[in-house]
Amino acid sequence: MSRYTGPKCRLCRRQGGKLFLKGPRCYSANCAFEKRPVPPGSHRGGRRRLSDYGLQLREKQKVRFLYGITEEQFENYFDSATKVPGVTGETLLSLLERRLDNVIFRAGMADSRSEARQMVLHGHFMVNGRKVNIPSYLVEERNVITLSEKGKKNQKIKEIMEEEVKPLPAWLEVNPDTREIRILRNPERGDIDYPIQEQLIVEFYSK
Ligand code: SF4
Repeated sequence: MSRYTGPKCRLCRRQGGKLFLKGPRCYSANCAFEKRPVPPGSHRGGRRRLSDYGLQLREKQKVRFLYGITEEQFENYFDSATKVPGVTGETLLSLLERRLDNVIFRAGMADSRSEARQMVLHGHFMVNGRKVNIPSYLVEERNVITLSEKGKKNQKIKEIMEEEVKPLPAWLEVNPDTREIRILRNPERGDIDYPIQEQLIVEFYSK
């Protein structure tokens, strides 16, 4: 299945919560979910009561849309998570957080994960001194992410570098002058403040 390319706000209304897919607009009064927090196409304004399966499916889709990945990629992450000792749902979230596009977003170098994805695809970043243009690249502890020469010339990045560094998750460190990003450790469940019930996702794939 391919990546979703339709209207992003529709996903938030479908999922029943804000997924923060459109950058600054998500924090403004223009947020479509704030204006109309009902499912798309709903005229009565209500939500159907979901079955257990429906709740599990919705949680899986919510996280998939949040990170902007395909069904197949999501299944691969889940498979990888089941092979790691520990709590599968937490490992799954840790893997998703370690994606390079997510790290760029979390470090405040892009307004949304989709914008970060574009920046990575265009070769604006290097990992440990080597250009990486793969958004799904998984960073590791002690990796250092820097701007490529192309990235330094990007107008959006120049503007971001004039702003203050945004609040960071505890597993990242950002140099305010160079915007060099250091991975201090692997992300843990407690580092993810977005409301996710990962156990529902595990139950979805355990059927
Ligand atoms: Fe979702 Fe609101 Fe952002 Fe649209 S503006 S993507 S509805 S959070």
